[in-house]
Amino acid sequence: MPILVNHIDHIYNPGTVFEKKALSDVSFSIEDGEYIGLVGHTGSGKSTLALHLNGLMKPDSGGIYFDGVDIASEGYDMKALRGKVGLVFQYPEHQLFEEDVFTDVCFGPKNLGLERQEVELRAYEALKAVGIEDDRFYVSPFDLSGGEKRRAAIAGVLAMKPKVLVLDEPCAGLDPHGREEILSIADDLHDSLGITVVLISHSMDDLAEHVDRLLVMHNGQLVMDGPTREVFMNRKELEAMGLAVPEAAAVLSDLKGMGLPVRTDLITVEEAKNEIIRALRSRF
Ligand code: ADP
Repeated sequence: MPILVNHIDHIYNPGTVFEKKALSDVSFSIEDGEYIGLVGHTGSGKSTLALHLNGLMKPDSGGIYFDGVDIASEGYDMKALRGKVGLVFQYPEHQLFEEDVFTDVCFGPKNLGLERQEVELRAYEALKAVGIEDDRFYVSPFDLSGGEKRRAAIAGVLAMKPKVLVLDEPCAGLDPHGREEILSIADDLHDSLGITVVLISHSMDDLAEHVDRLLVMHNGQLVMDGPTREVFMNRKELEAMGLAVPEAAAVLSDLKGMGLPVRTDLITVEEAKNEIIRALRSRF
């Protein structure tokens, strides 16, 4: 098991008027090769949790274990951990700063202390994995399109060969085409490269289409954890937290309410389409 999060709390500004408990008794584990969604209202603790997963923040109580070892233990190699659990922040393109794309992507593996040849090989593979063509390698990151910038930033983390990749709202601010591009890269990294992916997203539709398991945060607590389909069965509870179910599930449930005998446990657009056609055919 790569990551075990064991009863962690995190309090910002303890003992001041700004004290805020951002994580409260959060426990779960992430197995190799999972594709997980992390969802919750703004301020529910998602980013704080993400920062704990690769040791950028420390819990005030409880512990985090990577491959069975407590990352807070004496002499733990934090630098290596940051390579193994890659974190792509919101708007990661703001962190592109080298003179060209290739040099930028080399930054992470170089920092891990790898030989130049290995650094360059990893940068090349990472840029290929996110679909950046060779003729874009030596342009300034600032001359890339919005979608390319984001892909280059993801490549920078990928070049460290993470086992686990945490993507914090990777589609924020992109148009529908750009969103689809990033999500299909996330799918590829999971399906083809076998990377464990944690996708933080506001979009229930995106999560329904892509991830297998969903973690739901509310007021710093992990309130639901299960297969995506099962979590979305809790429409009332999700709505009470200000969250929605995917559009496809909502439409099916409304149609059922109107008397069309459809299943309501389906969550993707394709599934809903087929189910509505089936129900209409059986009627006429
Ligand atoms: P999310 O990613 O779900 O929007 P965050 O993890 O960013 O949630 O925030 C969780 C809570 O912690 C919020 O109430 C937020 O205001 C608070 N918080 C986040 N970062 C800080 C910080 N650096 N200092 C103080 N409070 C913070």
